[in-house]
Amino acid sequence: MISKILHAATDQLRTTSATPRLDAELILSHLLGWPRARLLAERDHPVAPALFATFAGLVSRRANGEPVAYVVGHKEFYGLDFAVDRRVLVPRPETELLVERALAMARRIAVGRAGPLRIADIGTGSGAIAVALAVHLPDALIDAVDISPEALDVAQANVARHGLTGRVRLLLGDLLGPLAAPVDLIVSNPPYTILAEVEPNVYAYEPHLALEGGPDGTDLYRRLFADSPAKLRPGGALLCEIGSWQGECVAALARAAFPAADVQIAHDLAGHNRVVYLTTPT
Ligand code: GLN
Repeated sequence: MISKILHAATDQLRTTSATPRLDAELILSHLLGWPRARLLAERDHPVAPALFATFAGLVSRRANGEPVAYVVGHKEFYGLDFAVDRRVLVPRPETELLVERALAMARRIAVGRAGPLRIADIGTGSGAIAVALAVHLPDALIDAVDISPEALDVAQANVARHGLTGRVRLLLGDLLGPLAAPVDLIVSNPPYTILAEVEPNVYAYEPHLALEGGPDGTDLYRRLFADSPAKLRPGGALLCEIGSWQGECVAALARAAFPAADVQIAHDLAGHNRVVYLTTPT
């Protein structure tokens, strides 16, 4: 029955996962096609042997360190469901801060603009940021750029799944290169980790192209900021996620690229530096 197999799976996942019970429930609710709450309501429901065998297989993958999002093939981000697999980085909860700040900034900028707001999501990966922004900014036009064609395939599926094909355009290329014209808002969660310091399971499963930020994790910010002044309209904004240790360094890089801009750092719920953002004068 459901309660028994969840209990056993939770025990099996305890050494690998910080959230063993949640992971077991996510895997089972995925297989049954049920909302997670129903697992509790119907905890005495029997489990067919074939289903149990599939469940056991997925739990073993998780027990080997594979992110639960890859095991079940999707991940919730900003209250929306996204298809994910090993072609893209798993969207992280801390990145919701970037979306939140970008939405606030976008709404402020939109007040003074005549046409639709133009936004670029640089290094879109699964498309999570671009889709979340598009859902909450019904008039905005978004270019979602990635250098990985296979990541763009995943992003395309997510854009279609959320009915945003007309407003989120997927562009293949390096950073700001594919943008045809300057935009109001540049948003990016670029690769910023020092690969040698990445957590072993992240290193083993997630795409290094989406993680590797060079020797000090700042390679992408340097290139992105250098090209941004030419791709940002006056009165526009640039927002980037950063590693918690990178606040001062990335803020300094941003100030060097935008001497007249107001550059600030925002903290996530854990109190860590998480977003560097700036607005340019009108
Ligand atoms: N937050 C991710 C991690 O720590 C890294 C994301 C990124 O490089 N943009 O694994």
